[in-house]
Amino acid sequence: MTTWPCAAVPKAPLAARTTLRVGGTAEWLLEPASSSELAAAVQAVRERGMDLWLLGGGANLVIADGELPGAVIATDRLKRVWRWHGEGDPFAVEIPPEHFPEREIGASAWLVAWAGESMPGLVNRSKALGWTGIEGLAGVPGSLGGGVAMNAGGSWGELWDNVERVRILEPDGTIQDHGREFFTPSYRNAHLGPRIVLGAVLRLEQSHKIAVENKVREYLEHKRRVQPVTEWSAGCIFKNPPKEQTGGKGAGQLIDEAGLKGRSIGDAQISPLHGNFLVNRGNATGEDVMSLIDEVTARVADRTGIHLEREVKLWPAGGPLQAGS
Ligand SMILES: Cc1cc2nc3c(=O)[nH]c(=O)nc-3n(C[C@H](O)[C@H](O)[C@H](O)COP(=O)(O)OP(=O)(O)OC[C@H]3O[C@@H](n4cnc5c(N)ncnc54)[C@H](O)[C@@H]3O)c2cc1C
Repeated sequence: MTTWPCAAVPKAPLAARTTLRVGGTAEWLLEPASSSELAAAVQAVRERGMDLWLLGGGANLVIADGELPGAVIATDRLKRVWRWHGEGDPFAVEIPPEHFPEREIGASAWLVAWAGESMPGLVNRSKALGWTGIEGLAGVPGSLGGGVAMNAGGSWGELWDNVERVRILEPDGTIQDHGREFFTPSYRNAHLGPRIVLGAVLRLEQSHKIAVENKVREYLEHKRRVQPVTEWSAGCIFKNPPKEQTGGKGAGQLIDEAGLKGRSIGDAQISPLHGNFLVNRGNATGEDVMSLIDEVTARVADRTGIHLEREVKLWPAGGPLQAGS
């Protein structure tokens, strides 16, 4: 019998762990409850020579039908957020964010969280505290770890604008804290390779609560108007190509101009509201979704000569975070 250093489920269904609600089962699903359990789980996966898949909030994933070989490590039990004074080890003492002395408008304020903390939860926390900086992430689902790995963001800013430090589980099994300058984040990619985010420190600025609340409300209202936010999706399927290539058109507009809004395969559909969102109308399979992505890629390329690069991660086609032997 296989034993693991944390909670573990064989043949675990994955669809409900993604916002698109497609995908088969994981050979193993591991659910560490602390960063040391996560490190031990990674070590155990490696010793067994298995592929390792790292699952945050599943908000940027398309998982194939059938069994995904290897072990999926989920971070959703690694949830906790606290504040830091700006000196010493930010991960050493977890001070509740509410325990903050008097407000000093314009002064730095730091939120620290483990990787499984939800990004909407962090935005809500910053709103409640009146700390400005991450309002642009309002309406972006998923975990802090996934947000750091993907450099989540949009026209109102990116998560890495506020990342000050990241605690990483390195591929050699050591745990290292790196300052922002160590990384080279770019559009929707922090270039972490096989590194695993255990936690991160976000630098915000103390502000007026009402100002932060207003910004969050404005961004959410905008998203509700232009994105199918109440449907099952994985957010934008494709990255926006460089503006010089498209005359400033985004991927959604190129898909719209190719006449693909509303196009469906099975229950997978290109959203009639936003061409870069693919929605699951109820019973889409991984195969439906991947076929539709392939069709959109081919039709936009035929029409414009532009090859759309995927933003979503495909499992297993995109490859594991760390390959087994
Ligand atoms: C309705 C909707 C709206 C969205 N809007 C936006 C938007 O405006 N901007 C935007 O950028 N995205 C958007 N997205 C996509 C998604 O929210 C982001 O990509 C988010 O950062 C994914 O985080 P996650 O935890 O769900 O990652 P997952 O989907 O679980 O994983 C994504 C990738 O990150 C890796 N990963 C996850 N956790 C870690 C970790 N701890 N360490 C290392 N690697 C890790 C995974 O292995 C995988 O490769 C949207 C999605 C939806 C459904």
